[in-house]
Amino acid sequence: MSAQLIVRNVTVIDGSGGPPVADAEVAIEDGRFTAIRPSGKTTGGGVTVYDGRGGYLLPGLWEGHTHLRARPGEGDADQVARLEAILAGYLAAGITTVLELGGPLDIDGRLRERHRTTPPTGAAELFFAGPSFTGINGWPLALHQNHSLVREAGDAETARRMVLELEGETDFVKCIYDGEPGAPDKLPRAALQAIVKAAHERGKSVLVHIATKRDIEEAVDAGADCIEHAFIPENPDDLTEAEDVADLLASTGTYFSPTLAVFEQLGRSGDKTYLAGLARDAIISPGEVAEIASRPAFGAPFPHHPAAETLTRFRYGVRSLPIMRDAGVKIVAGSDIALFMSRPAALLRELQLLADAGLPAGDTIVAATRYNAEKIRKATSVGTIAPGQVADALLLNADPLGDIMHLVRPGHRVAMIRHGHLTEAVE
Ligand SMILES: [Zn+2]
Repeated sequence: MSAQLIVRNVTVIDGSGGPPVADAEVAIEDGRFTAIRPSGKTTGGGVTVYDGRGGYLLPGLWEGHTHLRARPGEGDADQVARLEAILAGYLAAGITTVLELGGPLDIDGRLRERHRTTPPTGAAELFFAGPSFTGINGWPLALHQNHSLVREAGDAETARRMVLELEGETDFVKCIYDGEPGAPDKLPRAALQAIVKAAHERGKSVLVHIATKRDIEEAVDAGADCIEHAFIPENPDDLTEAEDVADLLASTGTYFSPTLAVFEQLGRSGDKTYLAGLARDAIISPGEVAEIASRPAFGAPFPHHPAAETLTRFRYGVRSLPIMRDAGVKIVAGSDIALFMSRPAALLRELQLLADAGLPAGDTIVAATRYNAEKIRKATSVGTIAPGQVADALLLNADPLGDIMHLVRPGHRVAMIRHGHLTEAVE
């Protein structure tokens, strides 16, 4: 029998969306939760007891949409080490799982190989798509020109073959379904359908990046598991488009990851009051404001995403959120790229934006935990606090259901548990 850890004297918010359980303790063994029960006094040989001092224990958070592209020119070993350091930074922020939606297969695969026998207790878990599927020369090649980060499919047969080639190497599939309908750089609709079919045959979910309502309709029709990104409305003053999308996503059980944080960054790039707000909300430090403002990228145009259109998209996404919530859409939390803040902070900003837009704090926690696990079909093993689940958790000293900022502000973090291993937060 291996060493047991008991975290005692906590309120458990288990990530399922159910009511919190006060005066509880959780038992952990071999990296998994074994029991959630009333706080007791049992001790025994081989049992380590950690006093949670009336804190709040929730599942470790998930970053549901990011890109961890290593720096060009680094050697392979350096890239793996750097990736591991990035994942350690996530864990320090209470984020125990990271989903990479499009990235370098070799580096992510090498990291996985390294962790095959011993799960890393000092870094977040990584699940990844490998290269994204897109059209010939499709987005995001205009951004990085790196053909190793994508699979370009011009027809259904090629698309199917490429999904099968990646079969044993990746955790889920990411498609970019963006661009003028019928344009050569847009993934053909038949290719999208073939990708979803092949992925589902192999038990993988398919997450689809979209731009418009029509893209969403076609992606849902193809069988997409999750729609990535809020859409660009035809008429920003008309919320009936959002109502239609909400009904479609709710009735089909399709997950929805609006990635508000990235559109806020692109839409408000160059706006110094944006940075001041980030500092006020502890997303960046006060000292970073001037440094970020002086970067050439701050205020510079971003390919494929004109600032005005992106700001409209952000605001429409925010206004749509209560409609999505009321319709019963399963909203998941992911931030996409972090331009003006750290990657972990980008997810925390997304949580704040979701809550500010009207998602109740309990639903925001579900969005960052259980629904992210469900969207990549891992929920039977990780994402909630329940017996048998991987013991990834976050201990706070204040109630995140009372105020989402208790989750966002770093000062409330007491400890992180990763695969059963507890590390106290450092101030
Ligand atoms: Zn992305």
